[in-house]
Amino acid sequence: MDKELKDKYQKLLVENQILLQELLVARKAADITADLVAEQFANLDVVVKDLDTRARNEKNLREEMSLARREAEAANVAKSDFLANMSHEIRTPMNGIIGMTDLVLGTLLDENQRQSLNLVKRSANRLLQVINDILDFSKIESGKMRLDPVDFDLKDLLDNCMAMFALSAKEKGISLKCKQSPDLPRYIRTDSIRLMQILINLISNGVKFTDRGTVTLEVSCLNHKADNEAYIKFSVIDTGIGIEPHKQNLIFESFSQADSSMTRKYGGTGLGLAISSKLSELMGSRIYLESTPGEGSIFWFVSIVELVPEKNNEIASATSLISPPDNAVRLPPGIRVLLAEDEPINQTLAVALLTKMGTSVTAVSDGLAVLREISANSYDLVLMDLQMPKLNGFDTTRAIRELDGPAAITPIVALTAHARAEDRQKCLQAGMDDYLSKPIDFAQLETTLYRQLSHRKVMLLETD
Ligand code: ADP
Repeated sequence: MDKELKDKYQKLLVENQILLQELLVARKAADITADLVAEQFANLDVVVKDLDTRARNEKNLREEMSLARREAEAANVAKSDFLANMSHEIRTPMNGIIGMTDLVLGTLLDENQRQSLNLVKRSANRLLQVINDILDFSKIESGKMRLDPVDFDLKDLLDNCMAMFALSAKEKGISLKCKQSPDLPRYIRTDSIRLMQILINLISNGVKFTDRGTVTLEVSCLNHKADNEAYIKFSVIDTGIGIEPHKQNLIFESFSQADSSMTRKYGGTGLGLAISSKLSELMGSRIYLESTPGEGSIFWFVSIVELVPEKNNEIASATSLISPPDNAVRLPPGIRVLLAEDEPINQTLAVALLTKMGTSVTAVSDGLAVLREISANSYDLVLMDLQMPKLNGFDTTRAIRELDGPAAITPIVALTAHARAEDRQKCLQAGMDDYLSKPIDFAQLETTLYRQLSHRKVMLLETD
């Protein structure tokens, strides 16, 4: 081989070796990359599996949460129903206790007996208040609380609030004031019963936690929002024990009290402010508090109300629902009342009250008996319990309204332990004319009978 060919061959050999080396390096690099890719794939697999597990867990968690939510909602409804039923069951015997006590208080008693019975009545009323609070609270919690706006006389409502606490303030030696700004509208439309409930709670706390000085209800019109609406500010100002700053939010929570030793001294469930603040929220407002320990407290809220132009009959009758009944009425003797009440104590009590009023009473215990009685004999008025065996008060009323002849238009007054405005609405819708909540109050019963009978032009006498 000549030299030139040999060199060429050598060069090619070297080049070939270099290429081989490079190929080996490239192969190694490719192997490493393939390993890396395989590793990445394996990692990705783990991540995908992990994501899959997480998604499944999340789905399970969501299902568990929704089940728990449904269970909690069902438990809440069951709790509310239980509380509502319990309240009803407790109100019924309370009706007996308060009514019978009233009856005995109306007889000849020595001073000791009178004092003891007054104590029984005070305790029974207190218990009734607790039951009402629990009922309200359970209704608010289950979202069943509805507002019932009516036209009413604001001045009347404020006077009623003041009148309720006049005696307890006097007994404690503190003064009770009501300041109303001159531009305050007189006739307004909002839920008067709930407004009064909030004010009563705030004033009652003011009186309860003030041992000297004054409790003032201040009501002013901030400005007229529109032609037919106004902002009204209600403040209850006391010079009482006040509330520590760190307790000021807490007391709006349910069952919370600023100081448990105070609870023993003053009593209370710790529900009043929770209910009031929820009610004011329902009314589109909220309760504010300013307080200095040892100096006193101001609770205030602003309510947007509709303005009602003029006083009319509607307003007067709406107001009478919350006003103390007018005692200056007396029924003529011999009014024939058909009483439908299945609970024996309540029946005895109602018969006693009606007899004391001079009416002639026939008592029956179920709806079917009402229909039999009213078809066979003539009555001036029916007092109708709502929850009765065989036929309830609503269905009995509907059946009466469909009878032939004069019995169909007999005034019917509902008598029920369900004490709320919506119950009243249901009674009226079923064809009843009026509504009385238990415990039966003697004067209120007499006023209602008088009002219904005078509507029907039954001859009535004015008292002297
Ligand atoms: P209750 O009065 O039935 O305990 P509330 O919810 O009405 O329940 O009040 C909760 C707590 O707030 C009271 O126990 C009391 O500690 C405090 N509180 C409320 N109003 C006043 C007030 N005007 N002055 C001082 N403390 C008050």
